[in-house]
Amino acid sequence: MLRFGEISRRDFLKICTIVTASMGLPYSMVDKVSAALKKGPKPTVIWLHFMECTGCTESLLRASHPPLARFLLDIINLEYHETLMPAAGKQAEEVLHEAMKTYKGEYICVVEGAVSTKDGGIYCKIGGKPAIEILKEVTKDAKLVIAFGTCAAFGGVQAAKPNPTGAVGVGEVIGNSKLINIPGCPPNPYNFLATVSYILTFGKLPELDHLRRPKFAYGRLIHNHCERRAHFDEGRFAEKFGDEGYKKGYCLYKLGCKGPITYSNCPVQRFCDVGVWPVGAGHPCIGCTEPNFWDNAFPIYKPVMDIEGEK
Ligand code: SF4
Repeated sequence: MLRFGEISRRDFLKICTIVTASMGLPYSMVDKVSAALKKGPKPTVIWLHFMECTGCTESLLRASHPPLARFLLDIINLEYHETLMPAAGKQAEEVLHEAMKTYKGEYICVVEGAVSTKDGGIYCKIGGKPAIEILKEVTKDAKLVIAFGTCAAFGGVQAAKPNPTGAVGVGEVIGNSKLINIPGCPPNPYNFLATVSYILTFGKLPELDHLRRPKFAYGRLIHNHCERRAHFDEGRFAEKFGDEGYKKGYCLYKLGCKGPITYSNCPVQRFCDVGVWPVGAGHPCIGCTEPNFWDNAFPIYKPVMDIEGEK
């Protein structure tokens, strides 16, 4: 089991409060959530990496105020994670197979990265074995599979045209029956923590949308909660980067913002220690929580439709 050291009670409760709010639950539920997370037994997690940049794991690790990685390791039993574990090569393979055997039928498999399907999946191999085979083998006896990040959920950048490796999301290989998708490039770590916390607190999956995304995080359009929305409604737009409208924080729609067609809680559940998100930092949303986002993002700075509503 991997450890990062203890998390303080103060940080633990702080994260529980944010996680509870992320689930759309009232403050009065924080005690119930924190009690459920402390109760145990901790769910065992096997974390796989395929075709990706490891940004999803980084988004979890780099949050230090509060320290999300410590919190995560406080509520789960992380048996296998190639980026974090000291073991490598044959030793790592043994850890994986031992964990699959010991926790058969009980573990959660988290997948980061897309899966190559072309030519037998030879474009992504780990330990000489195609990722597609590893995925099938590990998920067969998993209780639940979480595709963490847009690459794992929908193929992501790897699946962009012409998609030379035949990259797909996890669901296209193993089906949807025990899958939850938590997309984003990177995904918000709180959406992952809130999903795991929901399952531990209520003993069931959160409500999912048609793309297997938790509705509490992906149930509403970015556009509906954006801090620039009042400018959109009043017709105040940045016409180009650096102009007067841009400097005044006007709406980025005319710079290609995909917020009106993208479902995610980014404007509410922000990123990093200082609570930023792309539109808040001055860049239009590129729609990274949606399928085919890389192909759909281009031309990146062209409005998704003209302002009269014509495509
Ligand atoms: Fe909508 Fe994007 Fe404008 Fe925000 S910046 S109001 S998400 S179009």
